[in-house]
Amino acid sequence: MKHFPVFLAVEGRRIVVSGGGEAAVAKLRLLMKTDARIAVFADAPAPEIETLARSGKITLVRRAFAPGDTAGAVLFYAANEDAAEDARVAALAEAGGALVNIVDNLEDSRFITPAIVDRDPVTVAIGTEGAAPVLARAIKAELEERLPPVLGVLARFGKAFRKRAEALPFGGRRRAFWADYYFRAGPAAVETGGEAAVRPALDALLTRHLARQPRAGRVDLVGAGPGDPELLTLKARKALDAADVVIHDRLVAPEILELARREAILLEAGKEGFGPHTPQETINAAMIGHARKGLHVVRLKSGDPGVFGRLDEEIGALEAAGVAWRVIPGLTAASAAVAAIGQSLTRRGRNSSVRILTGHDVRGFAEHDWRQLARRGEVAAVYMGKKSARFVQGRLMMHGADPATPVTVVENASRPEQQTVATTLAGLPAAVAGMSGPAIIFLGLAPRHAGATAQPDAPQETPEQTALIR
Ligand code: SAH
Repeated sequence: MKHFPVFLAVEGRRIVVSGGGEAAVAKLRLLMKTDARIAVFADAPAPEIETLARSGKITLVRRAFAPGDTAGAVLFYAANEDAAEDARVAALAEAGGALVNIVDNLEDSRFITPAIVDRDPVTVAIGTEGAAPVLARAIKAELEERLPPVLGVLARFGKAFRKRAEALPFGGRRRAFWADYYFRAGPAAVETGGEAAVRPALDALLTRHLARQPRAGRVDLVGAGPGDPELLTLKARKALDAADVVIHDRLVAPEILELARREAILLEAGKEGFGPHTPQETINAAMIGHARKGLHVVRLKSGDPGVFGRLDEEIGALEAAGVAWRVIPGLTAASAAVAAIGQSLTRRGRNSSVRILTGHDVRGFAEHDWRQLARRGEVAAVYMGKKSARFVQGRLMMHGADPATPVTVVENASRPEQQTVATTLAGLPAAVAGMSGPAIIFLGLAPRHAGATAQPDAPQETPEQTALIR
C-alpha cells in the first residue's frame, strides 16, 4: 500500500483550491459534501464557481494563488490544468503546511482523492493508487446500488443512540442489537413511519434486547480451506463474520483473516510443521477462557479441521470444560492440490482407495504400512512431508517401490503462489528441496497433462511412468 486511507477531520477547517476551470469544478463538487470552509483562487472562474460564491458556500478570490494564501489550510488542490502553474502553487501551498494534491499528477501529489460512495455519515472510499480508475468506478457503481439510500439516515440516528446502547454488554449482545437495527427494525421503521419512526423503534428495540437472556459462549472449530478465500464455505464465512475471538493457525492465509469481524480479537496459535509452536494446552485454555466469558470463539484451522488438525484433542478439552462446540468442515489441502493437477484422488480402475498420511508425527518421521504403499497403483497424499521426503523415499524403495513411480508435489495449492512439480519417487527429495510453502506430495499420481505443469528443471516423465498410473 503506497497510500494509506484515512478520514480527515475537516469540519470548520480550510480547504483551498487553485484554478477556475473544469478540474476545479469537479473537485468542488466533492468538496461541497464536506463541512469545511472552502476557498477558491481563480483569475477566470467558471460560472458554477461564481454561483457557489454568490450563495456564500465558498470564498472566491479573483486572482492567482500567492504566497501566504494557504494559511491554516489542511488540504490544497492545484487544479489549474497547467503543469507549470500547478507546480508553482503546489510549492507555495506545501511551504505553507498544507497537504497538496495536484489534479491528474499522482507522482507529485501528497494525497489522492478516492472515489466516494456517500451515505453520510457512512462513507465508502475507493482507491486504486491511480492504477485502475475504471475499476474504482465499477466498484463505486456496484456499491451505490447495494447500499440503500436510507442507510445514512439510520446511521445518523444510530450514532446518536450509541451511548444508550451501552446498556447492553460489549460483544455479541450489543452487536446483535445493532445488526437487528440496521438490517431489520431500522429499515422497517423508515418504511412505515419515515424518519420520525426511527428513534421510537430504537427505544423499543433496546428494551427488547435488554430483556433477552445472555447467550452462553461457544466455540466453532472451523476449516479455513487451503488458502483461496473463495474456497471457504459459506458457514465458515458466517462464523468469521460473527466471531468475537478468532484463534488461528499460522498457515491460515491473511486474506481469510481479513474476513473476520473487524472488532474480533485475532490470536495466532503458531503451529506449523517443525517450527516453534504454541502448546496445545495454551490453545485449549484460550478457547475455554474466552468462551466462558460468553464470547463466540472461532478456532480457525487450515484446510479441514478433521485432517491433521488435532481436532479431537480440542473437542475433548471443550467437552471437559462444558463449553458448547461445533465443527464446520473445510476443504482439505489434498482436494485443492489434486484439483490443481486436473486429477482425482480416486479413479475407477486405477485406485479405489487413497491414503492421507503425514510425513512426521509427534515422535518424528512417521511410520506407515510401507509395503502396502510401495505397491503399484497406490495413491497417497502426504501432508507435512517436505522434511521427511528423503525418509519416505527411502522407506518406499526399501519395500520395493519402483523409483519411476510418479510423484507430484503441489506447493501453496489454491494460492496465487501455487507451484506444481511433476517428478518420480527418485526425484522427490530434489523436487521439494527449495520449497518454503506448505506442500502436498502425491505418491502415485502425475498431473493429468504430464509435463504441462512440470517445472523446467524437474525430471520429465516417460510414457511408461504415465502408463503406470493410468
Ligand atoms: N488441516 C489441514 C492440514 C494441516 S497439516 C488440511 O486439511 O489441509 C499442515 C499441512 O497441510 C502442510 O504441511 C501441508 O502439507 C498441507 N497444506 C496446508 N495447506 C496447503 C496448501 N495450500 N497447499 C499445499 N499443502 C497444504
